[in-house]
Amino acid sequence: MSELTRRGFLLGSTLAAAGLREEEVMAQPAPNTTANQPDPLLDGEELPTFRFALEKSEAKVQGGNSAREATVKQLPISKGIAGVSMRLEPGGMRELHWHATAAEWAFVVEGRCRTTVVDPEGRAETNDFDPGDIWYFPRGHGHSIQCLGNKPCHFILVFDNGYFSEFGTFSITDWIGHTPSRLLAKNLSLPEEAFTRFPKNEVYFARGPVPPEQIQPEHRRVLNPPPVSHKFRMLAEEPHSLHSGGREWRVGQERFPISTTITGVILDLNPGGLRELHWHPNADEWQYVISGRVRVTLFGAHGRYREETFDAGDVGYIPTGYGHSIENASNDKPARVLIAFNSGHYQAIDLSLWLAANPDYLLMANLGQPEALIEKLPRRRVFLTK
Ligand code: MN
Ligand code: MN
Repeated sequence: MSELTRRGFLLGSTLAAAGLREEEVMAQPAPNTTANQPDPLLDGEELPTFRFALEKSEAKVQGGNSAREATVKQLPISKGIAGVSMRLEPGGMRELHWHATAAEWAFVVEGRCRTTVVDPEGRAETNDFDPGDIWYFPRGHGHSIQCLGNKPCHFILVFDNGYFSEFGTFSITDWIGHTPSRLLAKNLSLPEEAFTRFPKNEVYFARGPVPPEQIQPEHRRVLNPPPVSHKFRMLAEEPHSLHSGGREWRVGQERFPISTTITGVILDLNPGGLRELHWHPNADEWQYVISGRVRVTLFGAHGRYREETFDAGDVGYIPTGYGHSIENASNDKPARVLIAFNSGHYQAIDLSLWLAANPDYLLMANLGQPEALIEKLPRRRVFLTK
């Protein structure tokens, strides 16, 4: 029996034993197995830093447009997820491009913007975004982003690959600028001379007039819309979770079907609020502090423990399966953290619930504590507290 046949056979019998049809199991997301592989960075005596001061880092700047990125280059631990903080001035745009190595998820922090995206089935969508809205572009889908109105806009981009970089980004001007005019003329039915005035190198940020608020029907491209939207109004919904310690909005594939590889979260921590100790079995976690100051702890087994303080504009990263917590470091100001996971399906195990799941006699022996104390442990998931 060949290796593949043998594996197929074994899988089939396992499924049958579990009472599952093969399609049901195949529909499950593939597990994130990066945590299985030895990683010199994570296998040392000390945990490496998991914080990067993104907004204090050097930006790519063109006029009032700027981009700052956090990849494995800036934050080596962040192998599973990269991020960019981008600002566009009125009339500014991030030119037509696609990413060969990552899907793109975004959260609009300030201002308004418009995206246009095309998919491989030839369907297109133009959407306008306000603060609190998110988008998702599957890997390789062509898109552009424009600032809307007379105020600048600021958004955080998240990519499901920490090795994402400009080398994985393909821009229209870069491509057209390096293709011979003869070929372009044939391709686009224009005279060859027309292409002599096109940009020769990548423009990256382009600038034009402030876009019209409404796209005139005659300016609409004649493509059909996709069956599921690239846009979701995350903060326009009620938070899914509200506690004395704060509140959380969480949006994954279940509510935003196109977002198959990213789950996004906005976590508001009240003064002194704590997102309790927990871990994520299936995904890495990327963090961007929108406002306030938070203390993040990281537990990496073998006695390795690290705590770092994050200010607004800092980025953090928690590898799959590592224990962690997030606490508002201020006793009088709230904090807001943007969190993204590289899975469309959210999973977490929280310390309080884990303890509550075990018999008291077991916890007494394991922790060497009397029943009187063990009885006082929470009997439910705490999630957020203060
Ligand atoms: Mn992009
Ligand atoms: Mn977490």
